[in-house]
Amino acid sequence: MDQSTTEWIKMIAEALNIDIATWSGKRELATRFWEMAGAKAPKSSWSPEYLHGILKGTTAPSKIFLSAVNSLGFLLDGMNSDIAKSTEVSVFVLGEVRPGTLIKGDSKRCGYPPCPINYIPRDKRQRYHGRECRDKDYKRIKQNGSRG
Ligand SMILES: [Zn+2]
Repeated sequence: MDQSTTEWIKMIAEALNIDIATWSGKRELATRFWEMAGAKAPKSSWSPEYLHGILKGTTAPSKIFLSAVNSLGFLLDGMNSDIAKSTEVSVFVLGEVRPGTLIKGDSKRCGYPPCPINYIPRDKRQRYHGRECRDKDYKRIKQNGSRG
């Protein structure tokens, strides 16, 4: 068993804030590796006991497992440099966003002047935070004959 693989696994656990001294932590990390491997491996074979054996050096990791460790390691490496550049702010979420999510995008003020909402546009052309503001602004422009 390659010593550096064990080190990699420990570093990944630390980066993800997972305590691999516990069985629930081992289960969580094994699941992360399984998710990384996609559909290539049956989830049942990557149990906390399997990860435990790999860490103890009594179980030889499969090639698919090793590639999942490498992929997750590289992913976290890249993410950590982005996270180092990021700022923590509080936001209001309507969709499903995990705590600590890295958002790569700028917020924008809603294009309807009375609306105070800042939002992250789905694409660059989006002017309003929602359909209601778009409709109100279209009505306003129609009445005034101009934008602004
Ligand atoms: Zn708005």
